[in-house]
Amino acid sequence: MEMTCLKCGYVASAGEFKWLCFTGCPACGGSELRECPVCGTHNVLHKNEALEDEEELMKELSRELAAIPANAPQFMLDRAKDIIGKLGSFNRRWNIAALDEFITERQKELGVGLGKSSKATAEVGAEK
Ligand SMILES: [Zn+2]
Repeated sequence: MEMTCLKCGYVASAGEFKWLCFTGCPACGGSELRECPVCGTHNVLHKNEALEDEEELMKELSRELAAIPANAPQFMLDRAKDIIGKLGSFNRRWNIAALDEFITERQKELGVGLGKSSKATAEVGAEK
């Protein structure tokens, strides 16, 4: 998904514009504010429905992940690992710093997703 800077006309994928915050009504998706990497202008990104669905799914997964305690049984930890993987791959497109922090925090607390495989995944993501 591409966006264009209103001020300098820079065009890039939305992921290159730094995510700042949601504007409008967060509950119904609304739109979000992103900063132009060239001139720093704040641009509003209007999201299409597909992205709103994805956002909704991310919120649900985040809630589920937040509810898993550190002393959870193995099947829940497996589920946590699964969710962390999914959220991580969504966030490559969304670049939400707070979500990244949340994922890292949960990985530490639950002791999942810190193995070799997740590091390799992170590296693949960084190359993209
Ligand atoms: Zn610009």
